[in-house]
Parts: sequence; C-alpha cells; structure tokens
Amino acid sequence: MNIILLGPPGAGKGTQAKILAKKFKIPQISTGDILRGAVKDQTPMGIKAKGFMDAGALVPDSVVVGIVEERLAKEDCFDGFILDGFPRTVAQADALKEMLVSHGKAVEHVISVDVNKEELLQRITGRRTCKGCGRGYHTVFDPPRVDDKCDECGDGLYQRDDDSEETMRKRLDVYEEQTAPLVTYYSNESLLRSIRGTGSIEEIQQAILRILEGVRE
Ligand code: ADP
Ligand code: ADP
Ligand code: ZN
Repeated sequence: MNIILLGPPGAGKGTQAKILAKKFKIPQISTGDILRGAVKDQTPMGIKAKGFMDAGALVPDSVVVGIVEERLAKEDCFDGFILDGFPRTVAQADALKEMLVSHGKAVEHVISVDVNKEELLQRITGRRTCKGCGRGYHTVFDPPRVDDKCDECGDGLYQRDDDSEETMRKRLDVYEEQTAPLVTYYSNESLLRSIRGTGSIEEIQQAILRILEGVRE
C-alpha cells in the first residue's frame, strides 16, 4: 500500500501517518524528519538544508528527491510506505512517479487533508515534539500527561525552530504556491481523495481508513 498524505503544515499529516504506519506495519517517510535529523547531525546535506528550513522555504528538489530515492530502496518499503511531506512540488511528484515506475511500483492513494488557516496557525504554534521518540503533541489539543514530558518515553519536548508565527506564515504561502498544485496533479491521475482535517485525531483516522477500505490490515 503506497500512500501519500498531502496537506499544509499543521494539517496533521505526521500525526495520522504515525497511526497508519503502526496499523499497517509500513514505514512513515517524513522528509521533514529526515532533514531535521541531518541538521542535528550537521551532515553536509543538513548544513545545506538548514538555511532553507529556517526561512520557511523548500529545500531544493534535487536534495529531497535524493533522500526519498535512497529511503524507498530500503527493504522495509517493499510492502508499502506512507509519504508525509513529500512530494511538495510538481517536479518532486514527477520524480517520484519515475522512480516508482522503474521498480514496477506506483502511488496508490493520495489523501489530501484540508484544514482552514486559523486552525493551522493554532496547531503549529502549539506543536511540541518529543526529543527522544519523535511523538507529536499539542499544548492544548493533545497535551502530554505531565508537562513537557513524553507519555511514551519520558523524554523532554521541544518546539521546532520553524514553528514561529513569522516562519509559519511564510510556510503557508509556500504551500499555496508550490504544493497546492499537486491537488490538481493527483486528481488528474484519479488518485486524489480529500478529507476534512478538522475534528478529533480519531475521527480523521477513521475517515482515512474508510478511503483505504478494502485494503487488508
Ligand atoms: P510540516 O510538517 O509543518 O509540513 P515538515 O516537517 O514536513 O513540515 O517540513 C519542514 C521543512 O522541511 C519544510 O518547511 C521544508 O523547508 C523542508 N522540507 C520537508 N519536506 C520537503 C520537501 N518534500 N521538499 C522541500 N522541502 C522540504
Ligand atoms: P503536519 O505533519 O501536517 O505538519 P502534525 O501532525 O505535526 O501536522 O500536527 C500539527 C499539530 O496539530 C501537532 O501539535 C498535533 O498534535 C496537532 N494535531 C494533529 N491532529 C489534530 C487534530 N485532529 N486536532 C487538533 N490538533 C491536532
Ligand atoms: Zn517520547
């Protein structure tokens, strides 16, 4: 099952991808997570990507396409994968199609998660992430049981550098300009299904599962 979760920053892609990954035992591939890991480790790629990320801009296509190509070649992707935050440009979508075709594969589901701007701003400003296991939280909508401590691993939570109000507005503009065209792109390929991304995390998960219905767990 090859799935793409499409949607603006804060739509809940990561939250939903993690639940799906557990349920279907296929990996979540978040280019944002991979890039943040590279920034933290100060690899050459991370050093190159940091400026773009801090500015709320997209990292060049060649860099992210390379990341995804390498990741999809790993054995754990053979039975399927969930792409979260990739593709983000038409060029990335074209590159993805090409790399999958060369392995006799294809994208099967593109689920677009729609959330209005007000809610996105609230979600992004309250987003917190566990330093240890990467689980996401929200200060109001999904708080940890103990302040600033992860329920699952007990590690501390942090706020992403690019989740400031200013950078977030820039990221939303970038989404509109460069990523939103993918809605038309995938609807022309008859792969797109849109869902309302407001409501509880569980309700949204159910809406996604209804789309994937018929697909065995
Ligand atoms: P969000 O979950 O808020 O949408 P991500 O974690 O997916 O954010 O991405 C954070 C940043 O990493 C982006 O603003 C961008 O700079 C970079 N990035 C992630 N994925 C891509 C991609 N597919 N193409 C270009 N840049 C990307
Ligand atoms: P994305 O990966 O699309 O940028 P996240 O999954 O990181 O989005 O979610 C952004 C923030 O919104 C996180 O703090 C998360 O806890 C919170 N969130 C996710 N889904 C919901 C929801 N259905 N209702 C309220 N808050 C949510
Ligand atoms: Zn944790």
